Amino acid sequence: MRFDIMTLFTSLIDGVLSESIIGRARAAGIVEINTHDIRDYSENKHRRVDDTPYGGGMGMLMSPVPIYNCYQAVLDTMREKPDISRRVIYMSPQGSVLTQDKAKELLEYDNIVILCGHYEGVDQRIIDEIVDEEISIGDYVLTGGEIPACVLVDCVCRMIDGVLSDAECYELESIASGMLEYPQYTRPYDFRGRLVPDVLLSGHHANIEAWRQEAALEKTRKVRPDLLYKAKGKEK
Ligand code: SAM
Repeated sequence: MRFDIMTLFTSLIDGVLSESIIGRARAAGIVEINTHDIRDYSENKHRRVDDTPYGGGMGMLMSPVPIYNCYQAVLDTMREKPDISRRVIYMSPQGSVLTQDKAKELLEYDNIVILCGHYEGVDQRIIDEIVDEEISIGDYVLTGGEIPACVLVDCVCRMIDGVLSDAECYELESIASGMLEYPQYTRPYDFRGRLVPDVLLSGHHANIEAWRQEAALEKTRKVRPDLLYKAKGKEK
């Protein structure tokens, strides 16, 4: 799977997506993540990419021209592969909120192109021209689309075959499993007087599994009961 991220701050994204599991997946060639600096496609001699909004109002808006040029350059790199399936996403607080199910849907594409906004956002016409879908990472507003893009790419990449080992499988984790995960413990056995639950040291696999299920259910009931209602709805 290939990701192309159009941004004004490539180093923000390269830093985050070069480490740990995603960094290893890139090095192993399981995922390809390219960042593209929109400023390189400005037609202005000062490399300007923003301007004041028509009609007045606060702040600056990203101009559609450099973004469009950048997008065309991204497409050019794939001209020899016309059959590639592609989704163009604008990270935006106005989009539908990212969920594990939405991230899973995106796995069906060969190429995800992501546009990161900045300032007051982008000119509506670039959204109308190239964007298939707007995605938000939550009901709050951030300075730019770079952190949201990293969140989206990380979330999708974890579900690509070979990115996680079997032991790390995402299907058993919180949310994807339909519940929150049970509490987990490692050494030391005694941490400031807080002991590991005895059942986890018992070696009795059925009892451990039953304890984990009950603990997961209890936490989900307490913190995210909406997940249980959703699961019930699915059963109907
Ligand atoms: N003026 C815009 C509005 O009210 O909808 C907000 C612009 S925001 C300051 C700048 C950029 O950050 C956006 O263009 C978008 O790319 C990104 N952004 C901010 N919050 C986001 C969120 N919750 N999810 C995804 N992207 C977000």
